[in-house]
Formats: sequence, C-alpha cells, structure tokens
Amino acid sequence: MIYTDTRDNSAKVDFKTAVMSGMNKATGGLYIPTSFPKLEKSFIEKNPEPSFRDIAFNMAKPYVDGEIPDDDLAAIIQDAYPFSPKVVPLDSVSYVLELFHGPTCAFKDFGARFMARTMSYFNRNEDTPLHILVATSGDTGSAVGSAFHNVPGLDVTILYPDGKISEIQEKQLSTFTGNVRALKVKGTFDDCQKLVKTAFTDEELRKKLRLSSANSINIARLLPQSFYYMYAACVVRNRAALDNKIHDPKIIMVVPSGNFGNLTSGLIAKEMGAPIAGFTAATNSNKTIPDWIATGDYNARPSVETFANAMDVGAPSNYERIKAMYTLEEVRRDFASYWLNNDGIVDAIKSCNSKTGYIIDPHGAIGWQAWDSIRSGEMEALINGNKNDYNNPGLTPNIPAWGQDVVNKKAVGVILETASPAKFGQTVFDAIGKEPPIPSRLEEVMRLPDRAIPMDNDYNTFKDWLLANL
Ligand SMILES: *Cc1c(COP(=O)(O)O)cnc(C)c1O
Repeated sequence: MIYTDTRDNSAKVDFKTAVMSGMNKATGGLYIPTSFPKLEKSFIEKNPEPSFRDIAFNMAKPYVDGEIPDDDLAAIIQDAYPFSPKVVPLDSVSYVLELFHGPTCAFKDFGARFMARTMSYFNRNEDTPLHILVATSGDTGSAVGSAFHNVPGLDVTILYPDGKISEIQEKQLSTFTGNVRALKVKGTFDDCQKLVKTAFTDEELRKKLRLSSANSINIARLLPQSFYYMYAACVVRNRAALDNKIHDPKIIMVVPSGNFGNLTSGLIAKEMGAPIAGFTAATNSNKTIPDWIATGDYNARPSVETFANAMDVGAPSNYERIKAMYTLEEVRRDFASYWLNNDGIVDAIKSCNSKTGYIIDPHGAIGWQAWDSIRSGEMEALINGNKNDYNNPGLTPNIPAWGQDVVNKKAVGVILETASPAKFGQTVFDAIGKEPPIPSRLEEVMRLPDRAIPMDNDYNTFKDWLLANL
C-alpha cells in the first residue's frame, strides 16, 4: 500500500515509513492510504459472521502488503488481541459496542497494541531499542504503556502532569516495570508535551538515542480501529434480523469523539465494505466538529474541561483526514452530529440506566443520548423542518441521507462504549447512586506499588535524566 499525506498528495511512502515517522515532518500532514480496498462480499456476508481476529487479519492485509508477510501479520494480530469487542443489545433498535475489554479498559487498547507490535516488527533487525516518548493527560499514556510493555526492542517513557490526573489513571501509568516507566512532571500537560517536543528536535540527544512518538495520529493506531466497526456491523446485521426482524438494517455507528480518530476509523471500515449506513458524531462541549457541520466554518479553539475528559479536544487532529477524504456536503449526508454539556452528560448516564438498566460511562453516555433523541423523534422533527438551535445541546440541523430510515424504523444504532464506567466511577456514582462493577484488572493495578519518578519541569534536567537512564 502506498500512503500519501493530507497536506501534499504527491507524497508517497510505504507503511513502514508512515508508522515509524508518525507524520510527514516536511509538511506537518498526516498519512492516509491511497486506497481502501473492499473486502470480499462473500466474507462480509457470512452468517454467522467471521471472528474478530479473522476480520482483523483480512482488513490489515492490504495495508501492510509486501512489507509484513501473512504469517507475521497473523502473529501480530494474535498477540495484539487476546480480547474481543462485545456487542450488547439494549432494546429493539439499539446496541452497545463495548470496546473496553482490553487491558486498560478503554478502546485505545485496540490501536495502541497493533501499533506497538508493528513498530517492534519494523525494529527487529536493529541493534538498539527504539525509545518512545509520550506526554499524556491520562488515557493515552496508559494504553501506550500497557501496549508496549514487554514488547521486544521498544522502550517507553511516559510524562504526565503530577497531581493533575485521576487516581486510577495515575495507577495505570505509574506501576509499570521493565521497559516502561513514568515521569511525574511538576507542571501541566502542556509542559509535558513541550519537554517531549523539545527532545524530538534536540540533535545531540537524537545522535545518542533513537527516539519515536506513539501519538494518536499514527496510521498504525487508526487502521486497527476499523476492525471492530466491520465486526460490529456484521454482528448487528445478523442479529437484528433474528432479534427484531429488521432485515438489512441501516446501521448507524454512534461515536463519542474528541480527536476523531475513532470516527475516522469507522469511515475506513465503511469504505472497505462494512454494512454501515452512516455515523453520528457525539461530542461534549468541545463541539468544534458539530459547529463545522452546522455552519461550514471550522474554528479550532482551546479545549474546555468536561466529565467526558478523554474528549476534551478543541482542535481535533483527524479533522484533517476527514477533510482529505470527503467534502462538507458528503459529511452532512453521512453524519448526524450531536453535543451535550456536563449537565446533559449526567442526565444521560441517569436516563440510560433508568430506561435500559445499562451502566454507561460519561463518554458513551453522550452517544447513548444522541441515539435516544434521534430515534425518539428528533430526527423526524428535523425532517419536518423543526431545527434545534445548534448553539444549544442536541442535533445539528443537517439531515443525513439515512434520516428517513430512522423514521421508518429501518435504522439500528450502535453506540460505541469507549471506556469501562469503572474508570469514571465517581461521575457515574454521582449520576445514578450506584458504583459500576470494577473489572479485576483495574482492581489489581490499584494494588500495585507506585513507581513514578519525580521530574522537574526543566528541559536540561529531563535530558540529563534520559541520557543517564535510557
Ligand atoms: C480517546 C477517547 C475518546 C475519543 O476518541 P477520539 O479518537 O480522540 O475521538 C473517547 N472516549 C474515551 C474513553 C477515550 O479514551
């Protein structure tokens, strides 16, 4: 596969270059594949559907063709995914796609684990380890640390702002041993990011250490997230016919979004032939994309803090990929978009629990509320000309091509549950007065000793530490 970049479509690189460099440093653009090969119809239409790992292998294959042989790719998939996504029915037209059954209980495990193993594969003939530096405000760092833990040839240093992340998040970051360690920096997330960025541009340091990043814009994190969309769409298509006699359902993926990496992966799955009719982009008060869809003007802005904090992004990096793949008109045709403020998030957790019994986390809750509103009359109202003022929480005024399918009860919503509610136990408890059950792997990590290394917010101190310890 040849990859090009969002800012210069004459750029042409192979998969290895795209993965190992993360972005095109010359243009600042993000890599995207030049084509999205369709899977065989007979494979997609199997009933019962193929296994998650089978789908993952077949979807990954064209993107690594000629660079990773089939046997090695199969081993990467096998090792990356000892867990699977789960599709849980909520009611006759709604399913939850649980993406939190990996080690850190959030969907980022799917992308980070595939990226770690492909990087390790490409580093296999090198004499020295590749040193990954990551600045994190919480969830990304734990997914990356866990994904790279004990992976050969890779070494990870995570920087996080001391005292500014939750207790669970801190435990998940600071309890690694071996090739992964965390530095708690006396500063903010931006300070952490600045230390990492300065290190990447430090020629003297780069002469001594092979440095790389593992951030969310890497194509090796984006591609594997498309696997679970394909899987879920096949499961729901087969189940909706049995569960509720909805044959050939119009499947709407409802995606709680921040940087829009997850949603972009859904677009890739659709391009590859997944039976997906459209998307609902669900955000918190950081509604840069809903505003763009409503007005046509894209205005990146500083982020604001919300209860769904993994989506607190005011300048979503994958906007650039969405724009490279589709026009605004196409986006308006395929997407509904919906946003909620903090009060709305708490109400959504409550209402999901009282209507369905399901305990949902603050991120998934926005998706749930979006779908519940769409299918309970808001889409019909929109089609009849009653628009929500897009400055208030709710749907933006565009009518997607699948809007009428919702009214005709042919549409089925699949809400992506991006994290275990146990990771946001306090917010969930405050909303419903119940503690969500804690998965054993989260409980175990809470008992491990904290190994974080204190670090001053000073580049020279950081650099000396790296040179002395890596
Ligand atoms: C990262 C994250 C998101 C947002 O995903 P994007 O790909 O950035 O849109 C949503 N929910 C949770 C729990 C996350 O960790």
